[in-house]
Amino acid sequence: MARAGKVKIDRERCKGCALCSAFCPKKIIKPSGDVNSFGYHPAEVRDLKNCTGCGICALVCPDVAIIITRKEEAA
Ligand code: SF4
Ligand code: SF4
Repeated sequence: MARAGKVKIDRERCKGCALCSAFCPKKIIKPSGDVNSFGYHPAEVRDLKNCTGCGICALVCPDVAIIITRKEEAA
């Protein structure tokens, strides 16, 4: 069974610190070109199909801006 994840980033909570980008083992989180209402570039997931749902991004986010849901998939 392979694991897959769904990542939801609250763009208004995000301060664009890029910790999630640095720690994602798949390197699929990048700063958005948009700005939120605080003037930060919120993180976004660029390649969700490669997300394993490991939860590291949510763990390291100092602003609790990331919510992960996981599902098991047949390999
Ligand atoms: S759950 Fe894991 S693989 Fe998916 S975006 Fe977060 S750190 Fe990357
Ligand atoms: S770690 Fe949290 S606050 Fe920092 S860029 Fe990622 S989602 Fe935004």
